[in-house]
Amino acid sequence: MTKQYEGKAKVIFSTDDPMVLLTYFKDDATAYNAMKRGNIPGKGEMNCTISSHLFQYLQLNGIANHFIAQPSKREMRVQALRILPLEVVVRNIAAGSLCSQTGIEPGTNLPYPLVEFYYKRDDLGDPLLTLDRLQLLNLATSEQVNYLKSNALHINQLLGDFFGSCGLTLVDFKLEFGLNHEQQLLLGDEISPDTCRLWDQGETDADKRILDKDRFRKDLGSVLEAYEEVLTRVKTQCLRLLPVQSQSDITSG
Ligand code: ADP
Ligand code: MG
Repeated sequence: MTKQYEGKAKVIFSTDDPMVLLTYFKDDATAYNAMKRGNIPGKGEMNCTISSHLFQYLQLNGIANHFIAQPSKREMRVQALRILPLEVVVRNIAAGSLCSQTGIEPGTNLPYPLVEFYYKRDDLGDPLLTLDRLQLLNLATSEQVNYLKSNALHINQLLGDFFGSCGLTLVDFKLEFGLNHEQQLLLGDEISPDTCRLWDQGETDADKRILDKDRFRKDLGSVLEAYEEVLTRVKTQCLRLLPVQSQSDITSG
């Protein structure tokens, strides 16, 4: 296996099949455009296993994605994609940059889910895109933009229901999409507490309820414990929902 690319959270390896990649989930944590860096031992295993479960759940519900199997606790076999340089963000409750850029009070329930596109360019600080800029930069066709938006809203519905049944509120999340060898646009990357804001519905305290990367961003402590809690709930719910065959594609980790 040859290392193809090392990002902030994962290493991508090629395999003997050019259509298949292996993603290795690291324990490295970054925030605020990598201005803040840390290492959370065990995070990679949590994120890989949470992502694998969620990708399986989404596949079962008709959302095409890159997941093939989880051969070990930190590794996921995926379809090789040409990732669009876009971060598709869906927001249900105001948090993070939406608040700092608009003045909306953190924690405000949005009247409808907001879909936003950000330019995946670390050197530019991943800026918010307008539809006109997206077109100007040729980042996606208008047909792709429409598909990404409706697919992201469908995923929001499915993940919101799933996390709701785990006693978790899906505040917002980030998705990445890419084209496979058949030029099919698929959901890729990861879905984990690094990329979703999740609040424990059983907790009213604004800091205690946070079970995602905001614990690292805001130095709230117990980061791994929060990720472990999410994993436990996601696993329990998947045992109820996923057929036995798909469960065997996920490691016992
Ligand atoms: P980043 O530092 O950009 O957040 P990560 O460490 O999270 O990167 O992931 C490594 C890279 O893998 C990212 O550029 C991501 O877009 C890419 N990637 C995710 N899934 C796939 C896939 N199925 N095929 C190719 N690249 C992928
Ligand atoms: Mg990433």
